[in-house]
Amino acid sequence: MISLEQALEIVLHSARTLGSERVGLAESLGRILAEDIASDIDMPPFDKSMVDGYACRRADLANGLEVVDVIQAGTWPRKSIATNQCAKIMTGAAVPPGADCVVMVEQTENTDGGAVRFTGEQTFDRICRKAEEIRAGQVVLPRGERICPPHIAVLAAVGCAAPLVAQRPAVAVVAGGDELVAPGIRPGPGQIRNSNSAQLAGQLEATGAVVRDYGTVRDVAEDIDRVLKAALAENDVVLLSGGVSMGDFDLVPAVLRQNRVELLFEKIAVKPGKPTVFGVSEQAYCFGLPGNPVSTLVTFELLVKPFLFQLMGHDFSPQFVQMRLDDSIHRRDTERQGWIPVAMTSPETVKPVEYHGSAHILALCRADGLVPVDIGVAHLAKGTSVAVRLL
Ligand code: AMP
Ligand code: MG
Repeated sequence: MISLEQALEIVLHSARTLGSERVGLAESLGRILAEDIASDIDMPPFDKSMVDGYACRRADLANGLEVVDVIQAGTWPRKSIATNQCAKIMTGAAVPPGADCVVMVEQTENTDGGAVRFTGEQTFDRICRKAEEIRAGQVVLPRGERICPPHIAVLAAVGCAAPLVAQRPAVAVVAGGDELVAPGIRPGPGQIRNSNSAQLAGQLEATGAVVRDYGTVRDVAEDIDRVLKAALAENDVVLLSGGVSMGDFDLVPAVLRQNRVELLFEKIAVKPGKPTVFGVSEQAYCFGLPGNPVSTLVTFELLVKPFLFQLMGHDFSPQFVQMRLDDSIHRRDTERQGWIPVAMTSPETVKPVEYHGSAHILALCRADGLVPVDIGVAHLAKGTSVAVRLL
């Protein structure tokens, strides 16, 4: 049995980066940049007014100012500003030469003689200077960055309408178990609904992978073998859930070996999630995940997700927040690192949710994160500061 850190190192080390493709900005959300992005222009490209008001000279603020121009955003100033002059200017318009500040329209009044007078006590320049945010040629987003909405705005602003991004890994999902029936069916005696396939599909989508659902397979070597062969041939990664533990009908590791998948580990010191298998073949990478839905979800989160991001060239680091325990944590089995589902009780505190073990998927619907508990540790007292891994 190896530690989570060792397992993570093995999977990340095995991942070879996929190819890349260009996509339009509308399709770029969640994708991973496969190139450094440099700006083709200064941002802002000119000295720009931050407000609607009057562009003038700071030295003249005490005087009545003659309005010599009206400057709309998208136009270019026609006049320079001389002593005791100003130009009416709109937010986003170019500041005319000669002006060194813009006063807000709210802090002005019109005099009877048609001039404008500043009524405030003091003012900022209220000018965004040319190239203040970005210089032409500057790399604004590095390769490996995951594209979120603000990244899309930056790509658009710097003229990158079709960024080069990593290809999305194609991932086969196979659920194993004689007891499984589809979610739309009422289970008969001894049966349960297959919840892992849809759960994994959701996790895969959120990670940016392409999901290929291969349905369920029975706990029969020939059946697993047939579906595995197709899944290996048609995908970058194969995820199998169930059939990896110690039961008489847990045949997945043997069938993987038969198909020349080299298994790099078969057990990890994590609870939930001990019987987690990872292997590599010439055709695809394979994970065998434990069948209990909480174990499947947690092992995906801890291992599969960082692995998939690595395939796309993104160095994933989970988000942890330091919180205080509002209640103690006890556990009996201390041989493995525990991951305890917790919910926030205030902005600074969390407490364990009611959790009956790795089949209790409803517990995770009520959890905001997972608290790791080290090997050998059975008890964390109320008030202990813990690092919560956000879900
Ligand atoms: P296994 O890993 O095959 O030993 O399965 C462990 C437990 O998880 C058993 O109670 C299974 O019935 C359950 N299980 C396995 N696969 C699924 C699945 N796809 N959806 C929901 N529960 C499952
Ligand atoms: Mg089973």
